Amino acid sequence: MSNSSSPIKPKVTPIYQTSVFTFEDLTELEAYFDQPSERYMYTRYSNPNSNELAEEVNKLEGGDGAVVTSSGMSAIFTAIMVFCKAGDHLLCAEEIYGGSAVLLSQELNRLGIEVTFVPSDNIYDLSAYCKPNTRVLLAETMSNPLLRVFDIRRLAQTCQKQNIKLIIDNTFASPVITKPLSLGADVVIHSVTKYLAGHSDVTAGVVVAKGEEHAKRARQVMMYYGLNLSPFDSWLAVRGLKTLRLRIKQHASNALAIATFLENHPKVSRVYYPGLESHPEHELASQQGNGLYGGMLSFVIQDEEAAVNSFMQALKTIPFAPSLAGVTTSFSHPLRTSHRSLNPEKREQLGITMGVIRLSVGVEEPEELMEELSAALEAI
Ligand SMILES: *Cc1c(COP(=O)(O)O)cnc(C)c1O
Repeated sequence: MSNSSSPIKPKVTPIYQTSVFTFEDLTELEAYFDQPSERYMYTRYSNPNSNELAEEVNKLEGGDGAVVTSSGMSAIFTAIMVFCKAGDHLLCAEEIYGGSAVLLSQELNRLGIEVTFVPSDNIYDLSAYCKPNTRVLLAETMSNPLLRVFDIRRLAQTCQKQNIKLIIDNTFASPVITKPLSLGADVVIHSVTKYLAGHSDVTAGVVVAKGEEHAKRARQVMMYYGLNLSPFDSWLAVRGLKTLRLRIKQHASNALAIATFLENHPKVSRVYYPGLESHPEHELASQQGNGLYGGMLSFVIQDEEAAVNSFMQALKTIPFAPSLAGVTTSFSHPLRTSHRSLNPEKREQLGITMGVIRLSVGVEEPEELMEELSAALEAI
């Protein structure tokens, strides 16, 4: 982009806060059309800041191309539109982010795309769910809020057998923990809002594809539907991404310490964390997770609203915030936030009850976090 003979040589990419780029003459315009990936015309198509973010995530996930979008939701929409059109059928893991469930169940049918949700227990045998027009399975590396871990390699084999594509939402794990493309997934998406940006100050998404064709199609969907990310938000996310590895290591070691502490606490009846030996997929999480189990955990306290409120009010510095993956610890209440639209039978079946608290463990000193949690549990 910048003239290499220019005396101004910033170490960090400046923010290209411009909606459009200029051309000297028709020759320069033609050069753009010859190599649009190396030049710029209009920020909705591409911008140096969003390209930098896309390239960095593409490297981390080991993709053949990536495109950044305005949110995690627009990334999921883009990924689906890479493979699906009206008349197609799509499969989705039942334990999925609430926003994805709403997009799939309420919006895609308006576009003529039919959706079937597959219970977790049946996810490795899709023969009963696939039809001739089935194109895709959408699943997550780890589920929210109970941190069930899915075997991506096995999912990819299942999809290959059915001749359908696999889209993995890798938001909870991040590529530091799991790289789904290397395990056979076709497309990975992230809510960059979470770990990739990591500071609770950006809303963004990314789609990383295996295969140039899929990457190209993702770029078209982003461009034509206008799902692009702004230069400033791209810049913030690039800045956050530089510390991803460091942050994930600290999130994960803090979360393991806190999960162990909570598992031994008399006021906690159950802890969901893949790093605990008591977790049903602990073995799988160890193999697939690079020895790291992430920064998210859930635990169960007394199943009564008054007890939950006492616990929440007693937390002095840890806020109730229905999102995740920031550098400072926060907690959420799945039953009343992400899972409030589930019917009572389904909640009971999944185990998402009043007493379930989801913790997004930050990068603070773990002793301070345990002290605060301990005091709040005493207040119940
Ligand atoms: C937050 C989240 C999304 C949606 O991302 P936004 O950036 O809020 O649009 C999708 N999937 C998962 C797993 C998430 O946690």
